Amino acid sequence: MLRKLIAGNWKMNGLKADGVALARDLGIRYAEQEDPAFDMLLCPPATLISTVGEAIAGSGLLLGGQDCHAAASGAHTGDTAAEMLADLGCTHVIVGHSERRTNHGEIDLAVAEKANAAHRAGLVSIICIGETESERDAGDALTVCSRQIAGSVPAGATSDNMVIAYEPVWAIGTGRTPTNADVAEVHAHIRAELSRKVSDPDNVRILYGGSVKGSNAGELMAVPNVDGALVGGASLKADEFWTIAQASV
Ligand code: PEP
Repeated sequence: MLRKLIAGNWKMNGLKADGVALARDLGIRYAEQEDPAFDMLLCPPATLISTVGEAIAGSGLLLGGQDCHAAASGAHTGDTAAEMLADLGCTHVIVGHSERRTNHGEIDLAVAEKANAAHRAGLVSIICIGETESERDAGDALTVCSRQIAGSVPAGATSDNMVIAYEPVWAIGTGRTPTNADVAEVHAHIRAELSRKVSDPDNVRILYGGSVKGSNAGELMAVPNVDGALVGGASLKADEFWTIAQASV
């Protein structure tokens, strides 16, 4: 069994005071936990990375970005380089989240370039994949995941520098989740597909994301090949996020 990773994607939420309070609260809980059996990662909005980094210093919590540009520097107004995230103490960055794919037209190639940038900067990429509702209804969930892995995982990805997050688009922020059997099927499929990309697919952490909360985390995290969670809404509440983490082990 791989060590679980519980990652919080705060999305575009939080001003300084809320962000610091949430991060400090979680940092204290994590630091007080004797030998925690899970890794916990906070991915605040870019404006809060530095502040949250200070708030969790010494706690053992990990810090990540929600996106990065493919280039290391240059004329890219409004973007953030992976190197800049690393400079702020980030160890991870989410790439290819479905909201980026939908709202910013990011295609698999762009996601692969961003993941490659993450690896260049020494970060772990969390590469998001997952089918839409119509793709699932059409019976194409596995095919979509295969296609996204083929296109979004760059050469040079390893079990050390990459995490996959399976996030069915229709489950994000909707309160709906796939059945445990469906999650098991997709995660097993993802692991099999990863053998085309890395030499040790069994060591790649595969997170489930989409409406994870305290009340369903235990059963979702017990599904074979689920190595943690990528959590949106519920990661903004310390008690709820902590309950998810506790339920994962
Ligand atoms: C996400 O956006 O990555 C996510 C999983 O959101 P939620 O937990 O709110 O469904």
